[in-house]
Amino acid sequence: MTCQRVRDIRESEEPETIEIRVIKKWIQKSKNEELCYQFVDAYGDCIEATANVKQIEHFDSIIQLMSCYKVSGCIATSCRTYMATVDHVASLVIGKKARFDPAPDLSIPDVYFNFATYDALKNRVKNARLLTDYIGRVETNSLRTTRSEKTLRKILIRDEMKNDLEITLWPDKRHLIGDEVIPGDIVAITSMMVTEYNGRLQLESTYLSSAFVNPDMPQTINHINRLKEVPPREQTGRDEQIATLQDIKLTSQQNLQNPKNFICKATIKHVHEDRTWYYVLCSKCRQKLYPQQKNNILNFVCKDDDDIVPNFRYCVNATIEDPTGSTDTVFFNESMEAIVNISCEDMVNKHADTTRPKLVPHLIRSIAGTTKLLNLTLKIDKQVVVNSVNNIASTTDTQSTNTAPGTSVFTPATPVPKSTISKRTVTETPGREGEKDENDINDEKHHCYGSYKM
Ligand SMILES: [Zn+2]
Repeated sequence: MTCQRVRDIRESEEPETIEIRVIKKWIQKSKNEELCYQFVDAYGDCIEATANVKQIEHFDSIIQLMSCYKVSGCIATSCRTYMATVDHVASLVIGKKARFDPAPDLSIPDVYFNFATYDALKNRVKNARLLTDYIGRVETNSLRTTRSEKTLRKILIRDEMKNDLEITLWPDKRHLIGDEVIPGDIVAITSMMVTEYNGRLQLESTYLSSAFVNPDMPQTINHINRLKEVPPREQTGRDEQIATLQDIKLTSQQNLQNPKNFICKATIKHVHEDRTWYYVLCSKCRQKLYPQQKNNILNFVCKDDDDIVPNFRYCVNATIEDPTGSTDTVFFNESMEAIVNISCEDMVNKHADTTRPKLVPHLIRSIAGTTKLLNLTLKIDKQVVVNSVNNIASTTDTQSTNTAPGTSVFTPATPVPKSTISKRTVTETPGREGEKDENDINDEKHHCYGSYKM
C-alpha cells in the first residue's frame, strides 16, 4: 500500500495512512492550550497535527520525537489560524483513534523549512496566522540591553536577493545564536514573527523559534550556494546607497505612505540649545517622569508610582547638513550616546546646569562640526529622526580627551563642507517638541517590547 503525501491532505476528506517523522512537539500557548506536532514525510512536506493537551500522557507513550511512524485514524481539518508553523491548507487532529505504528527510519528528513521570500513578508506584518522561516547570511551580530535591563540579540542578515533584514532574538531566545556566529555565517531561522519598525521589516523570535547556523542539509544547500554568491554589504559600494539631504527633501515632498530610511553622510551644523534635550522614563510603568524641585534638589517623579528609578533618554534637536542641503532632526538616545560616549544619565548629573535643565550642556553643543554616517528615518509626518550613527569608514574618528572650554571635544572625521547650502530645511515642525518625544517613546516601546510577551 502506498501512503498518501501529506501535502495532498485536505480538510474534511478522510486522510489515508501517512508515513512521517515527528520533528517538533510543543504546547500552543493560546486561550485553549493545544498539544501540537509537526509531521514531515519523505517528500519533505510538512503538516501540523493537534491533540487535546489533557491526553499528553497518552500521546507521550505512543509518539517519540524524531521517530518515524505509519499514522492512520486521524481527522483532517483546516489549518490552524494562529501561529501556524506550516503553510498548508489542512492540519490533522489526532485523538484516541489515531494509530502510530513504528516505521523504519527511512530517508525522511528530520527538519522542515518553509523559507519566505522578502516580498512575502509584507503581508505578514503583525499577522500571527502564519509564522515565518527565513534564511540569510549574517552581516552583524550583537547583544543589546533594553531599558528594562533585558539582554536581547540583534542580527542583521542579507538574503539571496540582497535584502537586509534585522532579526531580534528576545531574551528567552537570544541563545539560539551565539557570539561565535560571525559575518559570513549562514543562519536559517524558523517560526519568527514579522514586524515593522520605522518602515523597515524585521523578524522577531517567538517561543517556537529555532535557529540553525551553517545548516548542512539538502533543504538548505541551494540557498547556501546562492547566499555565497551574494556580495557582502561593504562590497556593494556603500556610496551607492548613501543618500543626500536633497534626496530626503525631494522624498518629503511626496505623499508618504510609510516612513522611509536613508543613510546620509552629514555634518552636525548646530545643536538647538533652546529645546528639550532629554526625557526621563519611569522604571516601573515606562511613562514620562516630571521634574520636581525640592530643597534645590531636582527629582523626577511618576504620577503613578513611588520608589522608581529615573531612566534618562536623549532627544537632542539639531540641524545637520551636507553639500546638498540641511535639515532639522532629532538624535534619540542610541545615536546621541554613540556620538558623545556618555550616557544620558551621566550627562544630566555631571554636565547639565541643574538650575536651567533645558539648557543643552556644552558637551552636546560641541558636537557641532562632527561628520558621521547617519541612519535617518523620514517619518510620514515629514519629521527626520536619527536612528543610529556610524563612523565614516577609512578615517579615524579620533576624539580628543582634552576638553578645554571653547574647543570641540570631537574632531570631525572629514573636513566640514562649506555652507553652500540652501537655508530652507527639509522639514519644519515648529512647536511639536512634546509630540516628538511621545512618538519616540512609543516607537521605542514598540521596538523594545514589541511582542516580547508572545
Ligand atoms: Zn511610573
